[in-house]
Amino acid sequence: MESKKPRTEIPTANMESMKVCVIGAGPSGTSVLRAFQSAQKKGATIPEITCYERQADLGGLWNYTHRTGIDEIGEPVHCSMYRYLWSNGPKEALEFADYTFEEHFGKPIPSYPPRPVLADYVKGRIENSGVRHWIKFHHPVRWVQYDDKTEKFTVTVFDADANEQITNVFDYVICCGGHFSTPNVPTFPGLETYSGVCMHAHDFRDAAQYAGKNVMVVGSSYSAEDIGSQLWKYGAKTITACYRSNPMQFTWPDNWETKPLLTKVDGKMCTFKDGTSKEIDVIVLCTGYLHHFPYLSEDVRLKTDNRMWPKSLYMGIAFEANPKMLYIGMQDQFFTFNMFDAQAWWARDVILGRITIPADKATLIAASKPWVEREATLESDESLIRFQGDYVKELISLTDYPNFDIDKVCELFLEWEHHKHTDIMGYRNNCYRSVMTGKMSPVHHTIWKEELDDSMATYLKC
Ligand code: FAD
Ligand code: NAP
Repeated sequence: MESKKPRTEIPTANMESMKVCVIGAGPSGTSVLRAFQSAQKKGATIPEITCYERQADLGGLWNYTHRTGIDEIGEPVHCSMYRYLWSNGPKEALEFADYTFEEHFGKPIPSYPPRPVLADYVKGRIENSGVRHWIKFHHPVRWVQYDDKTEKFTVTVFDADANEQITNVFDYVICCGGHFSTPNVPTFPGLETYSGVCMHAHDFRDAAQYAGKNVMVVGSSYSAEDIGSQLWKYGAKTITACYRSNPMQFTWPDNWETKPLLTKVDGKMCTFKDGTSKEIDVIVLCTGYLHHFPYLSEDVRLKTDNRMWPKSLYMGIAFEANPKMLYIGMQDQFFTFNMFDAQAWWARDVILGRITIPADKATLIAASKPWVEREATLESDESLIRFQGDYVKELISLTDYPNFDIDKVCELFLEWEHHKHTDIMGYRNNCYRSVMTGKMSPVHHTIWKEELDDSMATYLKC
């Protein structure tokens, strides 16, 4: 096991010639940039960092676009977010330990910000750190290949604005490409005959378009819950939620109906596993996403499903078959921004030579065993939350990322769960205390179901 104590840093001369490639400037990628900037600020010599981002701006999924399908440079649209999306967990659970909401906005703000407010927070930390110039925008990574002889990566990137393909060589690659962007799209018998509107959640943009319609969400996780709630808020006539394994356990409004899985579609008529049928105008497939990295060669490509302990990653970060390939944010997530920070600080310290990764693969695999075994026993949300909390705690104990009360954050998540089960359409009206500043958040001026404007200006109005 690693220790936080004395470590031999890689000599400065080597560090100066070292090159690190970061793929993606979403929350995970920007955590990596901040981690290196923070070490540099404390006097460390750091490698040359290049972050390739295929979008025109940073923020990852939080960077909203009206587009679906293909973006302005011919790449798949990354955004899976929609208009009127508000955080589905309290902001106090994701707050950066080194950059509080109060520091960014100049005052305490309520607990469930809409998307533009969180996007601004992520961007603000990078603007203030002065490292935006490390990011090359409109640069989709096309191929990453490791050479065993040189022990370096060759990274091929498309510079879309110059319309040019470029190739660079790096010592380390940190993949922060996200895993909630490539939709998992099942099909159902007869769907090709469907005469309504059918889309995956990735392409859902504006609930107001479906006011007065009979809509259906397929799936029983966060997208089904939130898109169904949006459709209700913006005036859908009825909402039907159908599930594969288990129904969502909330007390829904009167015009919300739960059905077992869809088995057949004929025109607009949808039939379910219990034999009942209903006419549906709009189907939203809230059926999750794929970990999809077509730009990584087979020997460094992560293959996992969406889980708390992704397969083949030592400490949930370093690729077991080649630990110079690092991944941030590949877990299913309760903890988000501050977990990405904890991972980024650890990955940074591996690269700076402050943390040594065991040399043989068997030891790396063995280190994951207790986590994998514990993951198999997790049944309740509380056990999942505490599992991820313990993971974040372990990472933070190994680096100089500012310590914070992770048990308190777990308690906050439990309070959040309780609020959701008490009132699913009202949970976002609650406030929580920041574990970073100790201050209670103010109550928002308008309750969630009545606030139809998700702009930052409206949200921040006192
Ligand atoms: P992403 O945000 O996906 O960013 C990845 C970045 O990598 C993108 O900018 C992308 O353009 C870039 N990229 C990808 N491939 C390439 C390539 N080949 N070349 C160059 N660049 C590339 N979390 C919360 O904490 N609260 C919420 O309320 C919340 N809501 C969510 C709502 C939805 C609909 C979804 C899908 C997720 C939500 N999440 C939420 C979870 C979300 O995963 C994280 O908040 C966060 O965005 C993950 O950051 P990331 O950087 O790992 O990935
Ligand atoms: P997810 O959590 O992976 O859930 C996928 C769902 O799809 C599961 O219910 C699964 O059912 C179902 N499913 C998969 N394949 C299916 C099939 N063939 N037929 C029927 N159902 C199928 O994905 P997600 O709900 O899209 O959430 C992804 C992330 O987005 C989460 O981190 C979440 O927090 C975030 N999110 C946040 C907000 C917000 O409000 N801010 C909104 C939406 C999403 P089983 O249970 O049977 O496996």
